[in-house]
Amino acid sequence: MLHRGLNRINMCGIVGSISHKPVRGILLEGLRRLEYRGYDSAGLVTVQNGSFKWAKMPGKIAVLENHLKNKDWDGPIGLAHTRWATHGQPIQCNAHPHFSCDHKIVVVHNGIIENYEPLKEKLIKEGHKFQSETDTEIIVHLIEKFYKQHHQPLLAVREAIKHLQGSFALGIIFLDRPDCLIGARLNSPLVVGLGKQENFLASDVTALLPFTKKVIYLNENELVELRRDRISLYGFSGKIKHRAPSTITWDITSAQKEGYPHFMLKEIFEQPQAVRSTLSYYINRNKLDIEFPTLKPLQKKLSKIKRIIIVACGTAWHAGLVGKYALEELAGLPVEVTIASEFRYGNPVLDNQ
Ligand code: GLU
Repeated sequence: MLHRGLNRINMCGIVGSISHKPVRGILLEGLRRLEYRGYDSAGLVTVQNGSFKWAKMPGKIAVLENHLKNKDWDGPIGLAHTRWATHGQPIQCNAHPHFSCDHKIVVVHNGIIENYEPLKEKLIKEGHKFQSETDTEIIVHLIEKFYKQHHQPLLAVREAIKHLQGSFALGIIFLDRPDCLIGARLNSPLVVGLGKQENFLASDVTALLPFTKKVIYLNENELVELRRDRISLYGFSGKIKHRAPSTITWDITSAQKEGYPHFMLKEIFEQPQAVRSTLSYYINRNKLDIEFPTLKPLQKKLSKIKRIIIVACGTAWHAGLVGKYALEELAGLPVEVTIASEFRYGNPVLDNQ
């Protein structure tokens, strides 16, 4: 499996809301505010008349919105998500939200669960049925397992996340507790927005600005329980925490820059986190586990090729450098990576193939 987006910081997004009025419009508006970050699918869930109403679609948020036009459901609590696939193709069944076997718990997730494979194996042995190829889905099954034991949403989430390695920002709803929305954060940002008789959850403050300027940023290893009229903050150990809200004074454009005067400066300051995220993924692995499922059928063609030149610019050029290692190892061919603008004006020695 080719793992995408390992170097990214929170490209995709989460929006959640619990309110005195229907929240579907809020969730979609919040998602649109996160659209600039890039994603490959979008999904949304609310609770109405005691059941989850949900939709998820590969492609743009507009595709999801279009799909929702013919559905009249809505509810006072909900979650929405834009996905940038890391585990499993960008197709409908892998898009978020993900549900427990009994369809009574729903989760959206930003990040990567590094140890999902052994956890998934164990959960399957215990009888859990999986609907997707994602790392995310193990989270909701784990929560289900602990909820069956403890019957307390917050405790079930705390028990489940003890088992997770990697990064996560989570939004969680329990169908039999539609009066609370739970969030949790480790190595992936999450922020709470405070409204009047409504509260919000988002992976980025930009999503909240149309609704409130009063926010509380979650720190690492923190959980939050949102009710319509209050929020409670906890450490993963269960210890209650108190934090005064901050008031956002930026407009949307500045918020997208998260307080930095321009995007380049923001990207420079994000570099340590980008390195940390990348290393945290590889730290538990002995080698790059990049497999190209399409390489085998190409073996005959590859045998006629003497060398490969990857022509690219910018980020794609960097991806090409990784591709060079993978192709040299898997195809046994010499690979060069050239900046496209140079390639055009150079005099590359190519054969006729
Ligand atoms: N790793 C999860 C997935 O592939 C979440 C990706 C994201 O952060 O959007 O579905």
